[in-house]
Amino acid sequence: GSYESVALVVGVTGIVGSSLAQVLKLPGTPGGPWKVYGIARRPCPGWLAKFGVEYIQCDVSNTEEAKTKLSPLNDVTHIFYVSWIGSEDCETNAVMFQNILDNVIPVAKNLKHISLQTGSKHYFGVFEEGSGVEPHDSPFTEDLPRLNVPNFYHDLEDILYEETSKHGLTWCVQRPALIFGFSPCSLMNIVSTLSIYATICKHEKKPLVYPGSKASWNCYVDGADADLAAEHHIWAAVDPKAKNQVFNCKNGDVFKWKHVWKLLADEFELEMVGYIEGNEQVSMAELMKDKDAVWDEIVKTHKLEATKLKEIAAFWFADIAFSCVDLVMSMTKSREYGFLGFRDSMKSFKSCIHKMRSYKFIP
Ligand code: NAD
Repeated sequence: GSYESVALVVGVTGIVGSSLAQVLKLPGTPGGPWKVYGIARRPCPGWLAKFGVEYIQCDVSNTEEAKTKLSPLNDVTHIFYVSWIGSEDCETNAVMFQNILDNVIPVAKNLKHISLQTGSKHYFGVFEEGSGVEPHDSPFTEDLPRLNVPNFYHDLEDILYEETSKHGLTWCVQRPALIFGFSPCSLMNIVSTLSIYATICKHEKKPLVYPGSKASWNCYVDGADADLAAEHHIWAAVDPKAKNQVFNCKNGDVFKWKHVWKLLADEFELEMVGYIEGNEQVSMAELMKDKDAVWDEIVKTHKLEATKLKEIAAFWFADIAFSCVDLVMSMTKSREYGFLGFRDSMKSFKSCIHKMRSYKFIP
């Protein structure tokens, strides 16, 4: 067919990667019609095979493999980098991004733009404890300086700035808030993690207790719908006014975990307990550490898509989310540049649950 633009989505099975694959293929999407290449490490999952993406299985941390698999992609016009190795190791994360650029830039003669996704962690430091770094004061704006702590986001940005300036390409850095999406292959999907926590509570006939801190139960939190994040990437890739900028990305409202808890209790038909007054935070990773066989049984009973608990749920990630307070970002810059998209966070969370259900990832 004849395409206006050709996207390379790196991390296409991930939380934003899978939304990008879907949104790019919609008829009215700006810059379209889009041809979409998608890269991820595993073989193409069945649910993704229906999206119309040219799927490339490749471990992009492997320089030789990246060279072999990427050098034929000479028609790419836009790169959307929505990947990470699953650890905060700066070197491996940098090698992955560099391998993409080293092999695509020389062959893709019509390459115009590179969109890099990092995140709000830019403003408050890294997941590993003990870094001792003082987070920025919120609401976070894009112009805040880097924190003085090793963060692979800095390495990725430096590669982006260097390569785009050397080759005359445009760029965007996207910093989304906590993402709400449906992918069962994400390394950190809060919707699937909490849906599976609720499903296991239901299976074990337990009420829905909030294991997080009191402060996190009561504070405002930012979410970013994965489809909205995809729209934001695409907007910045095609709108000339948005070129060469860093943008925060979030739904536009704020929510509280207590509201999510009510939603989970309704959706999974559980007795709602929530935060128990006086309780210290209990680790969800610890609570769920022996539940692999329970999940296998649930998958079997409900005839779900085959998934492993460790892949579809990131309880460690919920532990971090439930210990954080005051990590709110500003969307003003994005709006000033012309992006007016938004989502209702509760509707977004609910629609991700429903999407996961319709794909048979959860009961
Ligand atoms: P993800 O964990 O949902 O998906 C990662 C993708 O990268 C998958 O498709 C996976 O197959 C692929 N991948 C990983 N290692 C690979 C390799 N060696 N070779 C090929 N493919 C590989 O991704 P995400 O959560 O969208 O993360 C992207 C960025 O967004 C990260 O920097 C992350 O910190 C940031 N972020 C994530 C969230 C969130 O809630 N998930 C929120 C804000 C920012």
